[in-house]
Parts: sequence; structure tokens; C-alpha cells
Amino acid sequence: MEEKVTSYRFDSLDQTLSQLNREDCAIIAGGTDIMVLNKSRRGVPPKISKPIVFIDHLSELKQVYRHNQDLHIGACCTYSELLENPLIPNVLKNAIKTIAAPPIRNRGTLGGNICNASPAGDTLPLLYLYNAKLLLRSATSEKVVSISDFIQGPRRVQRLPNELLTEIILPSVMEEDGHVVFEKVGNRNADAIAKVSFAGLIRIKNDRIHNIRFAFGAVGPTMIRSKDIEKKLLGKPFPLTDKDITNVVAAFDKMIKPIDDHRSTAFYRKTVALNLLRYFLSLKRYQPN
Ligand SMILES: Cc1cc2nc3c(=O)[nH]c(=O)nc-3n(C[C@H](O)[C@H](O)[C@H](O)COP(=O)(O)OP(=O)(O)OC[C@H]3O[C@@H](n4cnc5c(N)ncnc54)[C@H](O)[C@@H]3O)c2cc1C
Repeated sequence: MEEKVTSYRFDSLDQTLSQLNREDCAIIAGGTDIMVLNKSRRGVPPKISKPIVFIDHLSELKQVYRHNQDLHIGACCTYSELLENPLIPNVLKNAIKTIAAPPIRNRGTLGGNICNASPAGDTLPLLYLYNAKLLLRSATSEKVVSISDFIQGPRRVQRLPNELLTEIILPSVMEEDGHVVFEKVGNRNADAIAKVSFAGLIRIKNDRIHNIRFAFGAVGPTMIRSKDIEKKLLGKPFPLTDKDITNVVAAFDKMIKPIDDHRSTAFYRKTVALNLLRYFLSLKRYQPN
């Protein structure tokens, strides 16, 4: 006989947060990760051991708006909704277009990609690059944390059981005039999990590097970014010299520690990641996007 599961689907965010304050529940947004993670045998519904709270319908979690130069994205916006929204940066849309296929993009949410904290989550390299901040709300408090503090490791995030991720904030992204790239290497252009991914941003002013950031996905337990290395490149003449490029690539060669798995080998991942970095740093011209 099938077991019954208690589930809640409240009309408002406040009611949802009150319930989470009373009871430890499993949160389901689009369900495209959590249902797969808890699947049992073919034909048998996934087994989730806690009561379930659905949040995907909550209008409070589906707003996208601009506040000054910052962009606020509701955690339960689906990928398909973000693709339709004119405020979303094109490069983030391009990353989203590589995720799964339309049926999953109609269900999967940005908040789910973050809270699932997969090393291969495709929005994560760009969110690290944009210094994304996350608004976490409970019935009694709210706080803003940086994405790099929130994600602790594969499927590990710093979230209390009574908290929900409600908004993703991209600071100053509306005034971003740098050249931003996202590259994903997988078996196909879409509907494939990344073997390696890379996001880079560069802004040149008076022939010198005014801003530079880069982050790698799928080559470590979380996204790999080094603010120290980025800082050392600030103010350098553009284009970078071969010596500078070699030094940066050598530093990441030490830092990147991929794994072998069914998708790829550690050797392939590291080689491709360093090639993407070298290519990005060797650009002789760039176009703001
Ligand atoms: C066939 C298939 C292909 C896929 N391809 C890709 C791909 O190419 N690239 C990629 O990056 N991902 C891919 N995914 C993974 C998945 O679709 C994404 O990670 C998606 O963004 C998850 O969002 P969701 O809303 O479905 O999350 P859910 O499954 O609902 O939730 C994921 C986790 O986050 C928690 N959670 C969700 N929202 C919140 C919130 N607001 N506050 C607190 N906790 C929350 C849940 O409790 C759960 O632990 C694929 C999945 C499938 C099934």
C-alpha cells in the first residue's frame, strides 16, 4: 500500500513561512531536482520522508524588478519565465538556454538551481561572477548572504529549516558595461549536464583592466573563483602579456581539482577549463554586451 505524505500549498508566502516555523518540511519549487534525488523504483512515486511544502505558485516569489542599478529576481521564477523577461541579462539567458529542454525549463527555477548546489548548476558561474546576494526569509527574520557563503559544497547550503530563499539580487548589474561570457562544455548544446563551465567578465578603461572576474563550474565541489588573482590583474595594460596569462593559468592549474565521473575525466575537465581561461585572457578586443 502506498504511504500518504502530508503536503501544504498555502496561498501566501507568510502562511508558508509560518508553517516552516512550526514544522521541518521538504521544500518543493519546480521539483526537477528533488523528485529525481528521492526517486525510488520505476513506476513508484519518489519517497520524501518529511511533510512537503509547495512554493512554486507563490506570486511573492515570482517578481523580477529593478531597484536602482540592482536586479532582483524572485526565487521561483522558472527558466522559461526568465527567458521572456527583458530585464534578465542576455548572457544569463544564454546560459539558461543550455539547461535541459523546454519541459524542464518550464518547471525548474533559479532558486532551485542555487539551493540544489550542484557543482554543475549552470546558472552558478554567472551568479558568482555577478557577486549575487541571496535574500533568505523566515517568519521572524530576513537576511542577505552572498552566494559564495551560502553554497558550502555539493548539495550543501547554509539555510535554516525555517528559511526560504526568496530573492536573488544581482548588484549593479543594470549598469554592467563589461564584456561577459558564459561557456558550457557538455555532450550536446543543450539537454546535457556540464562537464566544465566558465564565466568571465572584463571591462577595459584607458587601455587598462578596470574590472575582471572569472568563475569555473563542474571542476570542484563548488564554483571556483579567486578574488585575489582578479585583484592582481586590475590596472594591468590591456591586452595582457603572455607572462601574465601564463601566471594566472598556472595559479588555477593548482587550484582546480576536478573529479573523474561518468560524464568526464578529471584530466579532460582541467585541460578544457584552463584552455577556456587562457582563451578569455588572450582576447585582444572585446565588446560590451
Ligand atoms: C532531465 C533534467 C535535466 C536537467 N538539466 C540541467 C542542466 O542542464 N543544467 C542544470 O543546471 N540543471 C539541470 N537540471 C537540474 C534542475 O532542473 C535545476 O537545478 C533546477 O533549477 C532546479 O529547480 P527546481 O525549482 O526544480 O528545484 P527543486 O527540485 O524544487 O528544489 C531543489 C532543491 O532546492 C530546494 N529549494 C528550491 N527552492 C527553494 C527556495 N526558494 N528556498 C529554499 N530551498 C529551495 C529544495 O528543497 C531542493 O532541496 C536538470 C534536471 C533534470 C530532471
